[in-house]
Amino acid sequence: MSKPYSRDYWEAFLSALKPEGRHFINGELSPSSSGETFTRTRPMDGKPGATLARGNAGDIDRAVAAARAAFDSGVWRKKDPLEKKKIMLKWAQAIRDHGDELALLETLDVGKPVMASLNVDVRLCADGIQFYGEMIDKLYDEVAPTPPSERAIVRKVPIGVIGAITPWNYPMIIDAWKLGPAIAAGNSVVLKPAEQSSLSAIRLAQLGFEAGLPAGVLNVVTGYGEETGKPLALHMDVDMIAFTGSTEVGKQIMGYAAQSNVKRVALELGGKSPLVVFADADLDAAASAVAWGCFYNSGETCHASTRLIVERSAQEALIAKIEAVTRSDIALAHPFDPSAQIGALIEEEHMNKVLSMIAAGEKEGARRAFGAERTLAETGGYYVSPGVFIDMTNDMSLARQEIFGPVLAAIPFDTEEEALRIANDTIYGLAGAVFTKDMDRAHRFSESLHAGTVWINTYDMSNFATPFGGFKQSGFGRDRSVHAIDKYCDYKTIWQHFG
Ligand code: NAD
Repeated sequence: MSKPYSRDYWEAFLSALKPEGRHFINGELSPSSSGETFTRTRPMDGKPGATLARGNAGDIDRAVAAARAAFDSGVWRKKDPLEKKKIMLKWAQAIRDHGDELALLETLDVGKPVMASLNVDVRLCADGIQFYGEMIDKLYDEVAPTPPSERAIVRKVPIGVIGAITPWNYPMIIDAWKLGPAIAAGNSVVLKPAEQSSLSAIRLAQLGFEAGLPAGVLNVVTGYGEETGKPLALHMDVDMIAFTGSTEVGKQIMGYAAQSNVKRVALELGGKSPLVVFADADLDAAASAVAWGCFYNSGETCHASTRLIVERSAQEALIAKIEAVTRSDIALAHPFDPSAQIGALIEEEHMNKVLSMIAAGEKEGARRAFGAERTLAETGGYYVSPGVFIDMTNDMSLARQEIFGPVLAAIPFDTEEEALRIANDTIYGLAGAVFTKDMDRAHRFSESLHAGTVWINTYDMSNFATPFGGFKQSGFGRDRSVHAIDKYCDYKTIWQHFG
């Protein structure tokens, strides 16, 4: 029987919920060694949220030691692949079984609609763990072509202890993108979730342990970036950092790796993705793709289509359609409201940053078509309405900076060449799209667009079969797909000579 996911349902669930805020180290919940905590403020209403352990370098040491011990003992990496697969699949099912709870935790932390947390974030998190669980007993090593008197086996072996540092915009999904392939490949992990969004990570680790992951294989340390992420990335006994976050912190992570033990680094960073619309395109489809591509998750999406590059003759008609779709389909409301499609921004400081970027853009001459204002202030939460600026040029700050809010910059063009030049004129290269009925042009354009993912006449289609990641300062290394496993493995060659 389907549940009545009403506002009352979630309010009642919330009043009974006691979120766990301690670290999860070596199979046990543990306070910070300093005893310090910090309190999260709920973005949906500005009220105090969960209390979390404020991690420090000592806590990171404990977690890394547990991860190392688990790795060295072989308790996970040497387990029968079939057994490992069963545990991962059990874990994925446990995530689904605890879907309502995980969705609520995610929404309390990040302010997105709880039904989106449930139907998108929880689902994709479970699917990710399942995808990599299913791969475990399908990974083969190689025998190299050598003379008959010799044999060279090329083994793919786990790297060791992986530090995963994740952001707050899709916490559970991005955690699964790291944990799935890293653990399936046989590594141990210390996960440092963003300080804004740790609750789902702690619960994921508990569920994994209950499903059969041995103690120490997955540890979670909560806390601030400088106090926990930095010591993790500088740690001499961590073999790799898998990072998702801002380009600014990504650069620091590379520095920490170089300063410490030349650990490897995989970086999924920021974006300012172009969505190019030619006048011959289906403008209704384009309008819907632009609105959802830019405003979903309140624009707090790394590959959000924040730059609309539109053929000048179609700009006016397209913007009118984008406004209509936004107003009719993308309801901004309290995250427990069943009609909500988007909710609050992550925190007050971030909301103020978004609003000040908008104000600075207007000072430069950006022309507002609609929206991009604080709203629902009476709730105490941090809401900004989706908004569009038109007649922009690509050198204006709203077209260059990653705003991470529901703000679209529309930039008109006159020729295909100009459209391509504008689209590629960015430090980022995460994603992009082209809308046109001319398929020759669509393919020509998608080949030349410098981005890790390019969509033709659609936006944000994805699943676990496809790699995800960026070019240029959007990072390197890929999450998702079978290729992500390679990131968490080393090649080891074993030679044998027959006498
Ligand atoms: P952020 O870079 O501020 O923080 C990310 C993580 O790094 C957090 O866990 C944080 O605590 C930690 N951190 C901060 N300073 C650190 C330091 N000095 N050393 C080690 N760790 C540190 O990013 P955010 O604000 O959480 O997330 C938003 C950013 O993430 C945006 O730029 C967005 O584009 C990017 N992002 C990218 C992808 C992708 O797949 N490419 C996906 C989601 C988000």
